[in-house]
Amino acid sequence: MPIATTNPATGQTLKTYEPMSPEQIDAAIERADLAYRQLRGTTVDQRGRWLNAAADLLEAERDEIARLMTTEMGKTYASAQAEVTKCAAACRFYAAKAAEFLADEPADAGAVKATRAFVRYQPIGPVLAVMPWNFPLWQVLRFAAPALMAGNTGLLKHASNVPQTALLLEDLFRRAGFPEGAFTTLLVGSAEVDRVLSDPRVRAATLTGSEGAGRSIAQIAGRELKRTVLELGGSDPFVVMPSADLDRAAEVATTARCQNNGQSCIAAKRFIVHADVFDAFAEKFAANMAALRVGDPMESGTDVGPLASEGGRDEIHAQVRDAVDKGATVLCGGELPAGPGWFYPPTVVTDLRPEMRMWSEEVFGPVAGLYRVSSYDEAIEVANGTSFGLGSNAWTRDPQEQERFAVDLDAGNVFVNGMTTSYPELPFGGVKNSGYGRELSALGMREFCNTKTVWVGEGAASAGAGAHAE
Ligand code: NAP
Repeated sequence: MPIATTNPATGQTLKTYEPMSPEQIDAAIERADLAYRQLRGTTVDQRGRWLNAAADLLEAERDEIARLMTTEMGKTYASAQAEVTKCAAACRFYAAKAAEFLADEPADAGAVKATRAFVRYQPIGPVLAVMPWNFPLWQVLRFAAPALMAGNTGLLKHASNVPQTALLLEDLFRRAGFPEGAFTTLLVGSAEVDRVLSDPRVRAATLTGSEGAGRSIAQIAGRELKRTVLELGGSDPFVVMPSADLDRAAEVATTARCQNNGQSCIAAKRFIVHADVFDAFAEKFAANMAALRVGDPMESGTDVGPLASEGGRDEIHAQVRDAVDKGATVLCGGELPAGPGWFYPPTVVTDLRPEMRMWSEEVFGPVAGLYRVSSYDEAIEVANGTSFGLGSNAWTRDPQEQERFAVDLDAGNVFVNGMTTSYPELPFGGVKNSGYGRELSALGMREFCNTKTVWVGEGAASAGAGAHAE
């Protein structure tokens, strides 16, 4: 895949880049390693000042950054602006909370026959981040903010279709004051990931992307014995039970499916509705979906812009055609529009069966699968019946059912009566083929820390643990 900006709304390639040579990659890794030695010696306060400066820049340059993201991958301008704002908030969150998250944790010294014992969190070194294009700023920031605050350095291999956003990120951290090499963008294709991750100076990797990329990176990391965090695909269930507020559920379902032009890992993708309310929900949901405005992502009235690539659009249309050919019913959408750009209409498909691709595959575009179930148990069976386990939604006003969903949905999160989203305050990640490890919260910061046990016998200073935060 060439490293290039191609506007998905027009199909025009605007800028192309030469991939970095092996020598340039080696030099970038060397700079990241040197920067790590420098960064680990700085205080949390200093790193926090740099990260807050990055937040200031994001806020000051929000509109320009948003325009670039819209041009590179087609998300609506309004959602791009919101993404920049969210990134600035995440930077401020980690700048404020890092001292607490990295503080020494005292242990029961007597129980381990020590005079002093505690757990210390220390950085590990350069971390490779392989990132996707769908939230081109947020996916990177949610790794970079905690990683840099912990004292690690970052090497970004961004998706090949968002090179300008990738370069902007490197520039952002440099201008914010972080040392040269603390955060470096590698303009390389996915074939170079092996070279980078095999380098002994690179200590770990984080990937947000597809299951295939996850398997590939996990294999390299396994061979090299390196730690990984994998945030992979999802086919999130959105369960609607008879006691649900149907108007609200149908409204949120529409946003949950079509946000980011339907290209979100935690978009609700399978709508599993109890038979008692199926017809009423289906009517409201299909009407909402059909009413969304598809068009120029820079226009303020647009709800759904183009898909990020022609291949991505072909793929979802093939999934819809496969279902229809095998007997599914289309309630709205489903037709490939004419004209330039990679647009696809919001689509609802029902009468799905296990032999159809949509039943088990992730659908990465504004296409909803609608399933009828006749009991709570059947809802759980269908909801958990894929190889994924990223997010999940349940709509019910019955407190006992709410509790049961929280236990029974096999996913990294359960949102009851609300849309799945991510917050810096809460851990984010999946189970099963949706990956492993967690981002955000204190856990996201500690994924790339050495959790070091410190045991001190005789002669311990009386100060004890608790003050240190590297
Ligand atoms: P993708 O093809 O896996 O690409 C993601 C990144 O991985 C890109 O930088 C890509 O580089 C690289 N890559 C691809 N194949 C690779 C390989 N074999 N070895 C090493 N690197 C490889 O995914 P996508 O289609 O861009 O993004 C959509 C997928 O990401 C969906 O499945 C979505 O659910 C998932 N996602 C998950 C989360 C989460 O938090 N769990 C969030 C967002 C998206 P190139 O661009 O150079 O190919």
